[in-house]
Amino acid sequence: MRTYQLFINGSFVNAADGRTFESINPFNGEVVATVARAGAEDARRAVAAARAAFDQGPWPAMPLAERSAFLKKLVDAINARQLDLVALEVADSGTTIRKAKEDVALSARNLNYFAKMAAQPLESEIEGLSKPGFSKNLLCWEPVGVVAGIIPWNFPLKMAIWKLGPALAAGNTVVLKPSELTPATAMELAQMVADAGFPPGVVNIIPGYGAEAGEALVRDRQVDKVSFTGSTAVGRKIMSMASETLKKITLECGGKSANIVLDDADLELAVDGALYAIFYHQGQCCEAGSRLLLPLSLHDSFVERLVEKVRRMTIGDPTNPVTEIGPLISQHQRERVLGYIQSGKQEGASLAVGGSTPSGTELSKGFFVEPTIFTGVSNNMKIAREEIFGPVLSVIPYATEDEAVAIANDSPYGLAGGIWSADKERALRIARRLRTGTVWINEWHLISEKAPFGGYKQSGVGREFGMEGIKEYTEAKHLHIDEIGVRSKKFWYDTVVPK
Ligand code: NAD
Repeated sequence: MRTYQLFINGSFVNAADGRTFESINPFNGEVVATVARAGAEDARRAVAAARAAFDQGPWPAMPLAERSAFLKKLVDAINARQLDLVALEVADSGTTIRKAKEDVALSARNLNYFAKMAAQPLESEIEGLSKPGFSKNLLCWEPVGVVAGIIPWNFPLKMAIWKLGPALAAGNTVVLKPSELTPATAMELAQMVADAGFPPGVVNIIPGYGAEAGEALVRDRQVDKVSFTGSTAVGRKIMSMASETLKKITLECGGKSANIVLDDADLELAVDGALYAIFYHQGQCCEAGSRLLLPLSLHDSFVERLVEKVRRMTIGDPTNPVTEIGPLISQHQRERVLGYIQSGKQEGASLAVGGSTPSGTELSKGFFVEPTIFTGVSNNMKIAREEIFGPVLSVIPYATEDEAVAIANDSPYGLAGGIWSADKERALRIARRLRTGTVWINEWHLISEKAPFGGYKQSGVGREFGMEGIKEYTEAKHLHIDEIGVRSKKFWYDTVVPK
């Protein structure tokens, strides 16, 4: 078992009130780590450190190559500790080892992108703004200041990188609050920051609960921006709290993404793609393909193939490389998912496969739910409208392309979508009609650090990744430099000032 303290101003410290909490392995209930529990006073201390590091420290004005080199040191540290981080992520979050390996490798890759971006000047001349000899105009993207990053439990290390990478690359200082359910790898990252010799206060990491450390960060007047990833319900609260001081916000929230199979799709590809879209990480992905829209002509044979494959999925110990489906994050999450399954049955959907907790002594201590598929779902049922965040697929039949688009867009969310078709032009036409931040054609889940990711509608505000993602952590400044130089040519002064 590991123990973690808070990381504030370059030092590891206990919570001001000395409280701690335990992080639990979702597979066997064992304690993974005892962790200092940040409260409001710790959030205040961390923000004060980040404020001082921003206002008086070297970080915001550091030569870009030097700032980039600090981020690169973190990339190297993650790569050097891959095996340990993978094992810890599996124990702390219940993710399967195969996924954890991808997550740790992608964390390093994503951060490497931000390290490279950190070396690029965020400044350009605004061309054509005035006549030659009148003025020169610069557009400078400057750091926002102190950023509070608040992250969920589904991809603990990756989410930490997705917040730290762009915020630091743009010259901000950060207070990061990992989820109370999965603090371990973020705290290992804190150690890497300390080892890399970052100036004190540039990165602060304070594990704790949302209602305690989280709210204190969002309300703190010294915080300039909140970057949140989590549920839409909490996102809404954060938007409202941040409005008190008009803080800048990025919200990456929930989804109920529609996966549309067209009648000309390659079935072998589309069936496996649809399963990958929903059951990756037990459905605990914001961009999960949780609504599967099938044309009437293919419906029955497609469902038959899905069910046959689900029956062959290996549910079990996430440390075992053959495991495809691991446990959910917590007992609370399992009950929530089982509640949705109950609601699907009550509203008249048909259970094609799954629907309960798997049996077997090996699984008895874990928070497992069987991969579950409902057919006969209509888009106004709760299981089609609300984000379940578990291994539950709602299959919705459609008759025409227009109907498929209408069903896909009839959602409070707009995070992602997918289309499976042999005709890429046809798929592209439909993709352009979907009101979501990402659409995959014959693919799912592939998120690139070079392309913006985020949601329309109640899936969020703002974007992560790409230049759009970095600009979320900047303020645009216009610098106007006069080139006229003499009073006599500035006739507009005459409206106020006598000659
Ligand atoms: P959550 O909203 O319960 O918690 C997310 C984070 O917010 C945690 O760190 C939590 O401690 C904190 N928090 C909770 N209440 C708070 C409050 N009042 N003030 C400040 N902070 C508070 O979400 P979760 O259960 O951890 O994660 C699952 C959700 O995350 C899903 O809805 C999923 O769709 C979403 N998610 C979205 C994306 C995306 O990029 N769009 C990515 C991953 C997860």
